[in-house]
Amino acid sequence: MAAHPGFDRRALLRGGLTATAAGALGLGAAGLANAAPTPAAAAAAAPAALGTARSLAAPEPRIYSTAEWGARSPQTDIVILDHVPTYIVVHHTVEPGNTEDYSLEHAMEICRAIQDFHMDERGWGDTGQQFTISRGGYHLEGRHESLDVVRGGTRHVQGANVGGHNSEVIGIENEGLYTDVDVPDALWDSLVAMVAWIAGQYGRPVENIMGHRDFNSTECPGDVLYGRLPELREALAAPLGEPAPARTASWPLLRPGDSGPAVRAAQHLLRAHGFTGLPADGLFGPSTRAAVARLAEQSGVERHACSAEFHKRADETGYLGADVWPLITPRGRVADVEVAKAVEALLGRGKRAPAGRELDAAEWKRLLS
Ligand SMILES: [Zn+2]
Repeated sequence: MAAHPGFDRRALLRGGLTATAAGALGLGAAGLANAAPTPAAAAAAAPAALGTARSLAAPEPRIYSTAEWGARSPQTDIVILDHVPTYIVVHHTVEPGNTEDYSLEHAMEICRAIQDFHMDERGWGDTGQQFTISRGGYHLEGRHESLDVVRGGTRHVQGANVGGHNSEVIGIENEGLYTDVDVPDALWDSLVAMVAWIAGQYGRPVENIMGHRDFNSTECPGDVLYGRLPELREALAAPLGEPAPARTASWPLLRPGDSGPAVRAAQHLLRAHGFTGLPADGLFGPSTRAAVARLAEQSGVERHACSAEFHKRADETGYLGADVWPLITPRGRVADVEVAKAVEALLGRGKRAPAGRELDAAEWKRLLS
C-alpha cells in the first residue's frame, strides 16, 4: 500500500471528514427534497452498511451493479491495470435525449441499450464507460468489475471512452444532452457524490476532474455540463481536504459555424502549419474544417471513443479541440509571421505581442480564452 499514491492522503481523510463531506456534498436530507426518491438517500442513510474495513472520505453511493441491471457477459476479458487512473472524466450520453422518465427501470434500460450498442455496433468487449448516472440520479456500473475495482482503490478497469487515454481515465456517462440545457438537480447531486467517492478512493486531486473535450475534439459533455466542471471541482475541494482549485484556462473547442478571433487565430496557425491557401476570415467553414481534419489525420490523432450513442450519428470530424491545439501552437518566441498574426487576432486589433514574448501552452490557453 505504501506505493499507492492516494494512500497517505486518504488515510488522513479517514479521521473524521465523513460527516463534513456528506454535508458539503449535499447528501444530507435537506439536499434531497427535489431529488429522485432513492439513490442519494440510500447513500446518506447507509454508508456504513456499504462500507468495508475502510472508512471513506466520501461515502460510497448506492451503485447498481452490472448483475442488478441485467448486463450481458463481456465478450472479451476485462483488462484490469495495476495502477490507479489519473483522471476522472465526465461525459454526456446524448441519447436517448432528455427524458422525463426518472425511474430506476429506465436507468437500467439505458444501461442495457448502451451495452448493446457498444458490443454489437462498436464491436467492443463490454460497455465503454465505467459508470453511468441517469437523469433520475441513479448510479449504475458500466463496464463489468468497475465497482469492485474502485472499492479496492489501487487498480483500474480499462474502459473505452476517451480516445488515446483509456489507460489513464475513468469515465462517467451522464444521461442526456447538455449543449443548451442544464442537468437535473438529481443528476448533479449524484455526479458530485460519485466523483467524490472515486476521487477519495483513488486519491485524485480535484484538478484531475475533467470533461471528455479536455482530451478529444468533441462536443461531449456539452457546453453547459462542461461549464459546470469548475463548480464541481470547487464543491469537492473542501470535503476532500484540498484548497480551493484555481480556475485555469482550457483549450477551447471550435466547431463548424463558429466565428470570431479564436477562429481567425486558428486559421493563421493552420496557415503557418502549411495550409497556406486557407483564408483567415474568422469563419469556421468547410475549408477550415477540412484543414483541421487533414491535420488530425496526418498527425495520427486518435479518434475519440466516447461512449455516447450520439457519435454514431454526429460527425465531429474537423472539430478543433484539445488534441489539435497543441499541434498548431508553437512554443517559444514568435518567429513566424502567421503565428504573429494569430497572436494579434487574439490580443485585439492593432495590438502586438511584446517583443521577445515566450509562448507556452498555458499562455496560448489564456490568449484563446
Ligand atoms: Zn464523451
